[in-house]
Amino acid sequence: MKKTLRYNYRLNPTPEQEAKLIEFGATARGIWNLLLSENMRRYEYDKTFLFYKEMASLLKELKPFEEFAWIKSFDSAAAQQVARDLETAVKNAFSKVRLQRFPKHKVSYKKKKLHNDSFRAVNNSNCIRIENGAISIPKVGKVPIVLHRELVSKIKTITVQYRHGKWECSITQEVECKTAKQVLETITGFDINSKQTVVGSNGFVADNPKFLKQAIEKLNQLQRQLARRTKGSNRWLKTKQRINKLHGKISRQRLDFAHKTSRQITNENDILVFEDLNVKAMQKFNGSMVADNVMGLITQLSKYKAELEGKLYHEIGRFEKSTGICSECGQRHVLTLNDRRFTCTACGAYQSRDLAAAKSIASTGELDIIAAGIVARVTPASQQKQSVKTKVFELSKLDFGSEKKEAA
Ligand SMILES: [Zn+2]
Repeated sequence: MKKTLRYNYRLNPTPEQEAKLIEFGATARGIWNLLLSENMRRYEYDKTFLFYKEMASLLKELKPFEEFAWIKSFDSAAAQQVARDLETAVKNAFSKVRLQRFPKHKVSYKKKKLHNDSFRAVNNSNCIRIENGAISIPKVGKVPIVLHRELVSKIKTITVQYRHGKWECSITQEVECKTAKQVLETITGFDINSKQTVVGSNGFVADNPKFLKQAIEKLNQLQRQLARRTKGSNRWLKTKQRINKLHGKISRQRLDFAHKTSRQITNENDILVFEDLNVKAMQKFNGSMVADNVMGLITQLSKYKAELEGKLYHEIGRFEKSTGICSECGQRHVLTLNDRRFTCTACGAYQSRDLAAAKSIASTGELDIIAAGIVARVTPASQQKQSVKTKVFELSKLDFGSEKKEAA
């Protein structure tokens, strides 16, 4: 099985190249707005939309005209990508599963440093390649790149974007997954609690790091400062830029933490069981998850890492209750948010709320994947003599259940 992965790299364009990148970002935005307006007109007229092919040929027809010279100076494959994105956005807006809004016009920022324009180029006949520390981008040239990690395969597309005051490109590549492990030796459930700490049923704990909390406090302080200043003034703009920079720092720190945690989780376990965070967010986090979604990131990254390693990632059913279940006897208890530990009313076991929840997630997950026929419990002969028994499973079929087929 192949997976398309995205890797981000920092770009260091020369001033001339930077001017070109800014221009191209603006062009992509212009094409988006143009095609979107055309789509809206069409919808007013006969309640239909333009599909990719029509949009692509429209672009072709416009090119020869003087006033659309800006389209002509743009990479035509990149222009087509804008049309593709718009088609997807329009389709998503009408899909019941996606719940997405109708696409909007993109606005430009007069202050250059605040924009987040981007464009995507396609690697047709090896036009995008990395040589001598620079990546060749069609119609831009060889832009110096910080290649902090080697490419894993051929480049499919690159998206060049300006984010938080820095240029970066995200390169999509196809990666071959390892063959699925036939014998899976450990199953671990993970509970993500309201304090945004990940607790594993094997005793693993990853705290939401302090530096993130500190950065977020700083961010709130700057936002209060921004509110005090006159909108559009120099001092306002300065604060605005500091906020923008801090956003960038926070998002990089968050991603780094999520990558490290998910890497450790995936290395140490063969079967990972998580809860469906969509439901969890509704039950517990009251919106704070959306703003600071480190934990959602950890589950996402653990999922693809597990798939790459040929391991098993499983999300348990939507309304499975996990907190307050005794890990010894299964007795259910109603706990308030402040009860970090509890004593079982049936068997008297004193336990940590999070660890008990993680254990319950692991056992629900285990029942799930056995019932679905994905794995079967086995006892290898070599283990029967050992005092500590680890659970061993044999893979019978691949887990397509984690794709949420029951979601309706
Ligand atoms: Zn109990």
